Amino acid sequence: MTTHDLRLIGRDDPAPSDPVFEARHLIDGQWLSGTGTFTRESPAHGTRVTRAALGTEADAKAAIAAARAAFDDGRWSTLPGKERAAVLDRTAALIERDIDRIAQLETLESGKPITQAKAEIAGAADLWRYAAALARTSVGETQNALGPDMLGLTLREPIGVVSMITPWNFPFLIVSQKLPYALAAGCTAVVKPSELTSATTVILGELLIEAGLPAGVVNIVLGYGAPVGEVLSTDPRVDMVSFTGSTGVGRAIVAATAPTLKKVALELGGKNPQVVFADADLDAAADAIAFGVYFNAGECCNSGSRIIVHRNVIGPLTEKLVALSRKVAFGDPLHPDTQVGAIISDAHQAKIDRYVQDAVAGGATLALGGAALPVEGLPGRFYAPTLVNDVTPDMPIATQEVFGPVLSILTFDTFEEAMGLVNDTEYGLSAGVWSESVETCLRFARHAQAGTVWTNTWMDGFPELPFGGVKQSGLGRELGRQAIEDYQETKTVTMRIGTQTRAPWVAE
Ligand code: NAD
Repeated sequence: MTTHDLRLIGRDDPAPSDPVFEARHLIDGQWLSGTGTFTRESPAHGTRVTRAALGTEADAKAAIAAARAAFDDGRWSTLPGKERAAVLDRTAALIERDIDRIAQLETLESGKPITQAKAEIAGAADLWRYAAALARTSVGETQNALGPDMLGLTLREPIGVVSMITPWNFPFLIVSQKLPYALAAGCTAVVKPSELTSATTVILGELLIEAGLPAGVVNIVLGYGAPVGEVLSTDPRVDMVSFTGSTGVGRAIVAATAPTLKKVALELGGKNPQVVFADADLDAAADAIAFGVYFNAGECCNSGSRIIVHRNVIGPLTEKLVALSRKVAFGDPLHPDTQVGAIISDAHQAKIDRYVQDAVAGGATLALGGAALPVEGLPGRFYAPTLVNDVTPDMPIATQEVFGPVLSILTFDTFEEAMGLVNDTEYGLSAGVWSESVETCLRFARHAQAGTVWTNTWMDGFPELPFGGVKQSGLGRELGRQAIEDYQETKTVTMRIGTQTRAPWVAE
């Protein structure tokens, strides 16, 4: 590969040197510096972005105590839905007001392109609005067919204190897939963002205070999985853990919560296939496949990281993908034209490359890329758009999350063979199908083991539609009308009304 074949956006200006963002814990309405700090550098520019308070076990416990007290005294859970909704609506408006500031920090910490960071923050604001509506419309059921003297009711009640542990790839969006719904339900929370992307969750804390959220209802503790995430998963005062991250850490969290039997919601990894049938619109498919694999540099739970292509169209589709990949703009995340930014860390870049080199050593061939990508004027790390042909189903690149701009290409002859490849994975987050036949699409949707199926599109998402995984991609669903229900318990109230009609249990 020669890099002059690719579209690269370098940097002429010096790296941005804004003041370093000072991120502190938010505990019981107070911003606290704690005892130590850790720092985050821009993965593209190498400049320091954030200095954050380093959470300790004591900080995590103090935050849980605050959330517990705030829940137990009812300062939030007993407010009418209308008032809770007003706070969530105001938060949405404040997010929109501060979109540039939030997006700038999201880009500098994560390496994602600024235009995509702005879209992510705007999408997050929309989730706060949607959740505000749920705060006023969530209802229980009545059962009026139990006999003349009986009435049954179900009450939807907040589950209590929720720990939220989030990853680095969509920091602001993912906390917004959890927190507004928990708040709409009347819960209180302790949030731990990824140690790589603390800043925007801290800004969200500032906006919640400005929006009028009572102290102690949302607490934020910065730092690492150990000890902060571990305390949030084990402390008996926590009722639920909502986690988004890797399947390995998800398993550790389930084990950690077992002694206190907390409710657990998990949004984990994926190895998401798209099947391209011979009758597909190949231009539309190629564009969506390029989007699916390069969006967020492939550091995306929904990355369309493997395609399964009918043998008759593998040649033309690969050609289209190579041509499109050369046009995708890689480089400075702060440039408005950039479509793919930097890789999150050196360790992660090395892991991506290992998957590619192992596949090549095992007989796969490179249609494009397959190496680190130097970008002029940027000391950070980038990985080239990479298309890997002749991948066999047993290769790690075909079965494990690569989390980089790397596409595995497999072939099939029959529908059954394609479905075997789709479902032969421990993951089940999302899957896609490309065909002009509605029947093929529907058959695929029924057979694919995935929480989301896209037909003739990829990665469209709406607040109205639930999202989550089956198999080892997760437990529970976020978004959609049901999202609030994850943060609620159902209490059954069985009432005898009027005179008892059945005979007394003890005979007269
Ligand atoms: P990760 O699992 O390494 O870390 C996620 C969070 O867990 C971080 O805040 C981390 O500090 C914390 N953590 C680590 N060890 C912990 C422990 N023992 N106990 C409690 N908390 C702990 O994941 P990541 O590298 O930040 O994110 C990438 C992963 O997230 C990928 O696997 C991706 O597929 C997944 N993801 C899934 C979704 C989804 O909606 N399904 C969305 C985004 C990302």
